[in-house]
Amino acid sequence: MLESSFRLGTVFGIRIGVHYTWVIVFFLLISSLFAVFRNAHSEWSSHATLLTALLATLLFFVSIILHELGHSLIAIARGIKVRAITLFVFGGVAQTEKDADTAATEFFIAIAGPLVSFALAGLFYLLKLWLMPYSETATAIFDWLTTINLVVAIFNLIPGFPMDGGRVFRALVWRITGNAGKGMEWAVMSGKIVAYGLMVTGMLVALQPATLINGLWLIGISWFLLAVAEDSKRAYFREHLAGHVSVGDVTQKEVPTIAADMSILDWIDKKMLLTGHRACLVIKDNQTIGLVSLSDIVKCPREQWSSTPVREIMTPLKRLYIAKPNNSILEVLQIMNEYGINQVPVVDEGKIVGWIDREHILKILQLHIDTGR
Ligand SMILES: [Zn+2]
Repeated sequence: MLESSFRLGTVFGIRIGVHYTWVIVFFLLISSLFAVFRNAHSEWSSHATLLTALLATLLFFVSIILHELGHSLIAIARGIKVRAITLFVFGGVAQTEKDADTAATEFFIAIAGPLVSFALAGLFYLLKLWLMPYSETATAIFDWLTTINLVVAIFNLIPGFPMDGGRVFRALVWRITGNAGKGMEWAVMSGKIVAYGLMVTGMLVALQPATLINGLWLIGISWFLLAVAEDSKRAYFREHLAGHVSVGDVTQKEVPTIAADMSILDWIDKKMLLTGHRACLVIKDNQTIGLVSLSDIVKCPREQWSSTPVREIMTPLKRLYIAKPNNSILEVLQIMNEYGINQVPVVDEGKIVGWIDREHILKILQLHIDTGR
């Protein structure tokens, strides 16, 4: 959901990006801060007030990035790679390559963010005290930053997944029961309760014309939290299940094949468009020599489709990722996701016995989830 973000820079190998929805919150914050500072210091010129609002907003976003860096650095120290930190309309998010594998790791990663926010609140408070005799502007900015960082720290500690507090809660249940799945289930349940609570609060707040925007904001956040909680739970159980299902269990033995010398045009007209199969194993002298799929046709200009055999655009066998029947499908799925592969041939005792298909795996995993088996 955060693909369309633009890059600000890279820190500790982590890409820092901004999603386009962040622009909304940027302007909302500046305008509401402008009103706050205008009320408190009506003697300031409009320019000075606007500049103060802008500075406070920018320092707030730096605070959010530092909060996410807190999570990220602990994750890295515990052996989990962090791809990116992205700012978006509801705050920041650090995207890790995988979930924590122990309750302790989950706990320390989760708690690090709010601790950074508490530390920043303390730092800004000291700066405010220090600069108070010299600058009204600095006092106003640091005063607001102290409060907002406290709010961020406390709000994030609410024990509902996917908030930091929910992750802490998940780690505690995990630790006490020794069951990571239970931790996930409880944390998601509390996350939903929190989200519905926020939604009702948001509706009540939105009833007052003066606080309509704040109310809508809360409703938006609650909707977002609900969606992430559901998604994370589904992804978690899918992965968990995938660890127990083997490649052999989901191998499709009857796989579409095609002769290596068939032209691309014939393959499309006489096979693909009639059967709906986007990919085929390529056969020559009764041997599988590669795999060709719809995404390969860009390798050949359309005018040459009738004169080019499929073997020229296929991926040869030796360059294909191959699975064995006793591999767990979790690792195969991860590789498929990482490289955008949809089919992986399955080799048993040196012979290709079929393939596994990404969509097919996901369908089977969903059925496992639906039936609880
Ligand atoms: Zn956080």
